[in-house]
Amino acid sequence: MAHPSPIPDQPGAMRVGIPRSLLYYKYLPFWKTFLAELGLEVETSPLTNKQILSWGVEVAENELCVPVKAFYGHCMALRGKVDALFVPRVVSVEEREYTCPKFLGLPDMVAAVADQLELPPLLTPKLNQREKPSEFKWQLINFARDEFGVGAMDAIAALETARLAQRRYQESLVSGHKPLDLLPSSRLNRTRWKKPRGERKRIGLLGHPYNIYDGYITQNLVARLEEMGAELVVPEMTDHHVLMKAATDVPKQLYWTYEKEIMGAINHWTENKMVDGVIYVLAFACGPDSLVQVLIEHRARVHKVPLMSLTIDEHSGEAGLVTRIEAFTDMLMRKKKTAEAVA
Ligand code: SF4
Repeated sequence: MAHPSPIPDQPGAMRVGIPRSLLYYKYLPFWKTFLAELGLEVETSPLTNKQILSWGVEVAENELCVPVKAFYGHCMALRGKVDALFVPRVVSVEEREYTCPKFLGLPDMVAAVADQLELPPLLTPKLNQREKPSEFKWQLINFARDEFGVGAMDAIAALETARLAQRRYQESLVSGHKPLDLLPSSRLNRTRWKKPRGERKRIGLLGHPYNIYDGYITQNLVARLEEMGAELVVPEMTDHHVLMKAATDVPKQLYWTYEKEIMGAINHWTENKMVDGVIYVLAFACGPDSLVQVLIEHRARVHKVPLMSLTIDEHSGEAGLVTRIEAFTDMLMRKKKTAEAVA
């Protein structure tokens, strides 16, 4: 494959690719708006598909989690379509906390195979709010100056517009939408909602958004559950600060922000009796999730909320998944009927 054309001098002519994986599901409105406001054209990779996942699996270390493998595939899917790939180094998004080490190392991991895969040049701003949240602003201002020669005032204006876009996205999520309702989507991921007959089960769908909402990796789990009549409750529907506060109800504080959100979600749901059962989607070989899983199981047991953990990897099959979620939703329905009969 031919090398992509080099980055042009004029920012307006540059096309930047955002891989549709990992933190795409959390921050696309912010990143896309910020880059567009700097005068760049933004392109996202397509939905995960068989080709994208096999590309990623082929190039990634075997012991990596499936969303990181998919990330490689998404970078490859943007080859020849963009002048640069946006692969930020997201170290910390909260004071005194960290993200998963994979997010810290992602630019290095991709850079290590960039030549071999003939990837476009990488844009890798370092985003680290661990010491001071206000650092974030300067990190992006410096990024805009160093990479595109954009002045501080223009970068600040882009930042404000991007923050507004992200705030609107988060407000829509809290008002009851799921990321799939709001992000650019297509048939595979879109919920084919059919109004179910009879009573609906409230199922808390727990996990990282890149695991829950990647319809190819999870065999369209969201749509399947809704078609089975489940009323889904997801962490994004609760304000971030509420989740963070609820996450403190554990014996030892967690230092991974995204795992705290997951922990906060199950604490909040069980405390307020918001769900009849919980499905926890976690990636095989995920270190942070395997630690948090123990706390989640404990919480569900104490509050007598049925919990099913679904471990996903690149080999997850449709038949096994459907059987398991059908059995789980049937069990929830029987449990509810028994409780009503006894009352
Ligand atoms: S938190 Fe787990 S699933 Fe997410 S990137 Fe890190 S290792 Fe992978």
